[in-house]
Amino acid sequence: MTTFKTLDDLGDVAGKVALVRVDLNLPMQDGAVTDDTRVRAAAPTILELASKGAKVLLLAHFGRPKGERVSTQSLSMVVDCLQSVLGHEVMFVPEIAGPVVAQSIGILGNGGIAVLENTRFWKGEEKNDPELVQAIAANGDFYVNDAFSAAHRAHASTEGLAHVLPAYAGRSMQAELEALEKALGKPVKPVAAVVGGAKVSSKLDVLKHLVNLVDHLIIGGGMANTFLAARGVDVGKSLCEHDLTGTAETILDTADASGCTVHLPYDVVVSKEFAANPPSLRACNVHEVAADEMILDVGPQAVEALGDVLKTCRTLVWNGPMGAFEMVPFDAATVGLARIAAALTKEGSLVSVAGGGDTVAALNHAGVAEDFSYISTAGGAFLEWMEGKELPGVVALQR
Ligand code: ADP
Ligand code: MG
Repeated sequence: MTTFKTLDDLGDVAGKVALVRVDLNLPMQDGAVTDDTRVRAAAPTILELASKGAKVLLLAHFGRPKGERVSTQSLSMVVDCLQSVLGHEVMFVPEIAGPVVAQSIGILGNGGIAVLENTRFWKGEEKNDPELVQAIAANGDFYVNDAFSAAHRAHASTEGLAHVLPAYAGRSMQAELEALEKALGKPVKPVAAVVGGAKVSSKLDVLKHLVNLVDHLIIGGGMANTFLAARGVDVGKSLCEHDLTGTAETILDTADASGCTVHLPYDVVVSKEFAANPPSLRACNVHEVAADEMILDVGPQAVEALGDVLKTCRTLVWNGPMGAFEMVPFDAATVGLARIAAALTKEGSLVSVAGGGDTVAALNHAGVAEDFSYISTAGGAFLEWMEGKELPGVVALQR
């Protein structure tokens, strides 16, 4: 990875105006924030800049207003949440460029914090329009990007600004990039990847990228069924993309050629209905799945064997649950393997990085989120990184 500047590289910023891209796309209900995780993630960067005397202007998008002012998507709604998490007064500015922003900067003291309006109210944001970029930049002295989760988009506030102002990674961006670098950039070998979740089709690019990189590819979740079917296993009523068995075979061949061992479950947990604790629940060998049964989790023997694989590895990257973890007891394989990974991480023998919406929920459910080396909440950006794609917002910081 090429290097990027961090807040450590800032000189004296007292009185300077920092344009700081953060993720304020918060879950809301009836105009109130229901989860402030993203604000807490951005807080260290915001408070560090404020404590250095910078005037901090926060830039963020909310929802998909498509270039129009939509009052229900105004960032004025997150001011209360920002103030309570930061423990600091936050001014709201209903523009992102122009004289109103300039005036607000005049009012803001050194160390003051303001949040500008939803960047996506302006059409130029998603078009990365150079005119809008210049107009926003005109009010700032430097740019800080602390929104890894938006870095897969080349928008004015996520990419454009990095080209026209001195650009720095914020603390949360820095932590994410360092963790990802350790997991797949320059990982300590052997490296294992766990890929699960519902469908092969949503993670084809992830699988294709990983088989060339990792020593062990552990496939679980619904997508394992497609691979099992490709190997001639009758998966009964299981979720399975039969039209992708050819693709699955190609992935298995590529893995073979590049020295990557693919681990598919050899025992599974099945049931006749998609429900919690179903009466028809049983564990069996993959070759014993009946025509009216579906595979809803990886079996206990496979989990034990996979745990032994992880014990031989130094790095783990994980995306996708091993089973339909939302329903008991189909969370068992995900929870079991997560606990093994967490214990190995605690012992210091494994660097473990995980990401993905449902994966984060599953690891929280397993009670191990704190024990992993790093958990990414970045969603789409995390997945694109797992696909080996360059993220424009990150590339722009690395110039
Ligand atoms: P992430 O959001 O972490 O990227 P995905 O969205 O790809 O993960 O996959 C998560 C979903 O996959 C969960 O809703 C889970 O219930 C489902 N899933 C996992 N295993 C199976 C299975 N064997 N059959 C059906 N659905 C499954
Ligand atoms: Mg998901």
